[in-house]
Amino acid sequence: MTTHDDWVKRDAAVLWHGFTQMSTYADNTPLIIERAEGRELIDVDGNRYLDAISSLWVTTLGHRVPELDDALREQIDRIAHSTLLGNGNVAAIQLAEELAPLLPVDRPHLLFASDGAAAVEQALKIAFQYWVNQGVAGKRTYLAFGGAYHGDTIGSLSVGAGGFGTDLYDPLRFPVLRAPDVDAPGAFDTAIAMVHEHADKLAAVVIEPLVQGAAGMRLSPAADVARLGEACRKAGVLLIADEVATGFGRTGTLFASQQCHLSPDLMCLGKGLTGGYLPMAATVASGAVFDAFLGPDLSEFTLYHGHSFSGNALCAAVARRHLQLLKEWDVLANVNDRSYQLGVRLDTEIAPITAVRQVRQQGLMVGVELWPPTDGLRWGRRVCAEAVRRGVLLRPLGDVVVLMPILTSTAPEIDRIVDVLGASIDAVSNDR
Ligand SMILES: *Cc1c(COP(=O)(O)O)cnc(C)c1O
Repeated sequence: MTTHDDWVKRDAAVLWHGFTQMSTYADNTPLIIERAEGRELIDVDGNRYLDAISSLWVTTLGHRVPELDDALREQIDRIAHSTLLGNGNVAAIQLAEELAPLLPVDRPHLLFASDGAAAVEQALKIAFQYWVNQGVAGKRTYLAFGGAYHGDTIGSLSVGAGGFGTDLYDPLRFPVLRAPDVDAPGAFDTAIAMVHEHADKLAAVVIEPLVQGAAGMRLSPAADVARLGEACRKAGVLLIADEVATGFGRTGTLFASQQCHLSPDLMCLGKGLTGGYLPMAATVASGAVFDAFLGPDLSEFTLYHGHSFSGNALCAAVARRHLQLLKEWDVLANVNDRSYQLGVRLDTEIAPITAVRQVRQQGLMVGVELWPPTDGLRWGRRVCAEAVRRGVLLRPLGDVVVLMPILTSTAPEIDRIVDVLGASIDAVSNDR
């Protein structure tokens, strides 16, 4: 038995992997990663894989970034964690101070959590209570889009559109108003009409601005998202921008909302917040939303919600250094150069392949939708398995191969990802 097989056996004996059928887990040759260097993951046998999915969309600057490692070490010599419930900690305050001026939110206040789903959950509850606190009755539902994904807790699942086998939980999901798929013709006109028609019932609209990630990288025109934001403002409905996936440079700007000229009332951050190092998320509330929760001590205006690890100091210290590095290294310039390079190569070499139905890209978020001749061929999974054999880590969403290169990727690395993707698609589509 190889070292790898031994680890897989030990893994399957004690772990339960998310979104994974455990009875076949071991048969699908999972990687067992031991360490990393830069943008490469290294498995227990010493094999190297270029991380082309940013460790499921979280890694921004790379793995083992010396500056981030140092920030973590420095913080650990002070304190790892102390609660934000009713008390403060220096690391969280410093992070919020440095993040606030960069956010496209008016007079922002940050409520930290540990996962994107919790950031969405917090936003939904804040939006609901915002109206209650002001004595406005009946605004208790939400409008969300077809294809939406906002996380896996019951609340975030409710605003999500289902799929990935989660329809099973339908009886647990609370009902919401569902706008069409973002890329359906006239989707935003319909959504805007729904906002006006149901304004008296709507606490908030929730949207992944510019790119729906988990839906397979489905794109919304920035101008349409801007129109939706305007409609919400006019109709007196809060706007929640879920930037868990799009935040921190992915789409070419620090936040996708900026390209949509959006100033959301609530904004959800996660994934890239700590550069992909540690579990930290945040719900950002505008000053106007925050103010609606002010009142007498212990009064019903208070937001009675909080997570144990909110504002964890280790996470906060890394997140703060990460923000500084994004600027010091001019990471957005690299995102724009590399996404242009990637776009040209995808257009000329991948999109024309018969087996490819469509290529969708916004910055360094890409979905390559395959076009298998019949259903059930699992092309997405097989193409990614071929890529992994060639040393590039990819993971599909159904028949959409997702490319999410780390934001500091070099030109040769982008070339390698496209070379391997092309070869992998050929290998699978020629093997009928
Ligand atoms: C990943 C994701 C979430 C959920 O974040 P978790 O940290 O996995 O809970 C929510 N919204 C969007 C848009 C996401 O991509």
